[in-house]
Amino acid sequence: MNQIPVQDVTPDKKKSGESTSLYAEREHIYVKDARGIFKKLRSLSSAIMLIMFYTFSWLQWNGRQAVLFDLPERQFHVFSYTFWPQDFMLLSWLLIILAFTLFFVTVFAGRLWCGYSCPQFVWTWLFIYAEKWTEGDRNKRIRLDKSPWNKNKILRKTAKHTLWLFIAITSAVAFMGYFSPIRELVPDVLSWNLGPWETWWIGFISVATYANAGWLREQVCIYMCPYARFQSVMFDQDTLIISYDEVRGENRGKRKKGLDYKAMGLGDCIDCKNCVHVCPVGIDIRDGLQYECVACGACIDACDDIMERTGYEKGLIRYTTEHSLNGKKTHLMRPRLIGYFTALVLMSLAFMYTIYSRIPIELDILRDRGQLFVEASNGNIENSYMLKIANKSQKDQVYQLSIEGLDGITLIGNPVIKVEMGALEDYPIRLQIDPRYLDKANNTLEFKLQSKSDENITIIQDNRFIGPAPRR
Ligand code: SF4
Ligand code: SF4
Repeated sequence: MNQIPVQDVTPDKKKSGESTSLYAEREHIYVKDARGIFKKLRSLSSAIMLIMFYTFSWLQWNGRQAVLFDLPERQFHVFSYTFWPQDFMLLSWLLIILAFTLFFVTVFAGRLWCGYSCPQFVWTWLFIYAEKWTEGDRNKRIRLDKSPWNKNKILRKTAKHTLWLFIAITSAVAFMGYFSPIRELVPDVLSWNLGPWETWWIGFISVATYANAGWLREQVCIYMCPYARFQSVMFDQDTLIISYDEVRGENRGKRKKGLDYKAMGLGDCIDCKNCVHVCPVGIDIRDGLQYECVACGACIDACDDIMERTGYEKGLIRYTTEHSLNGKKTHLMRPRLIGYFTALVLMSLAFMYTIYSRIPIELDILRDRGQLFVEASNGNIENSYMLKIANKSQKDQVYQLSIEGLDGITLIGNPVIKVEMGALEDYPIRLQIDPRYLDKANNTLEFKLQSKSDENITIIQDNRFIGPAPRR
């Protein structure tokens, strides 16, 4: 398997054996704003995600919240579907499909997920935007941090942290709104009428968001995220990566306008360091592919802007592949990519079929284990059962119960059973049969439960009817 070598950025003194601290002191990153196509794409994907996150919990469906993970009731509503803990298998499938999607996208286009969709970075960009809005652009922020505390600094820092806290708390409330009905939660938050669990979770998520997106930022990606560590093993020489064109860019250096820089032995990189200043993880892409790079494309925007202004061709930093950089052909179709794609399509089809063909009813039949059978006063043989019926549909249901598989079997009790939407009903029944119909002790029965309003909602379960051993 061909893998792209990740740049060795070990400090020289470490290579020479000189003792070095294992603690890498963090350098504060003042991220400069970069304008360009990739910023637009990032803003668009972030906006879509944020709008979905903040609004989905407000949508109504069939008179209730469209997306609600109701933990106390153990029911998970997603539009017209209600999932129960028994459907946990579907969740496992979904997670496997998402994992394969991530593998496929990573092999094809590198860390697209990190740069454009990862919540850690979506919120980090939001916080950076709030920082810029309250403290100014990169240079102003650097000056502000170096300046002594005065009225201007106190006001700007207060405004920034207030805005950060506001975003963090609204994010926490929006998140909790997927677990506790949002239309009741928001008035409760505004009137400070929360229960202990809601207070704890809103507080915890607010602090986590504030700390992650405001303070920790790239540290989460570099030190905590497992994907950052293993994604490079999925790369091959045809994976799209963001790379600096060393052949074209080197030797880097400043130059005066109008001079023949090529004759001076210089390449296209004017060493302005704009690509470094816009990088949210603080790396220099000119050092080669590094695992810290979240593939956000900010350095492409920054460099393209410089290239345009200096009159050079754009694309000194660009999306490319290792093969392309080495002057070889890039292969779109690779066995690994085709393998991931095939697995992804098959699993997605099977998952969709399972969801589509899922019957929104569950039936468990428990035989009375206390006694195998009883002899009723009329001489019939009687067995008792407890039916556990879960109505997983989106409306109240009336079911018709019928028993098949044994001639002469009689149901004692009402065969019409009403179960409310989302309810789990225990329904005891008794079955009787004249012993003349029994030619063996252990008989198989079919319990059929069918909705009176929708005959597609039908479930059939087998169980046993026990009688005395027939006399020979
Ligand atoms: S190196 Fe470029 S693509 Fe990678 S994180 Fe930094 S700015 Fe984003
Ligand atoms: S932005 Fe472009 S020109 Fe400027 S230092 Fe980076 S690679 Fe060189």
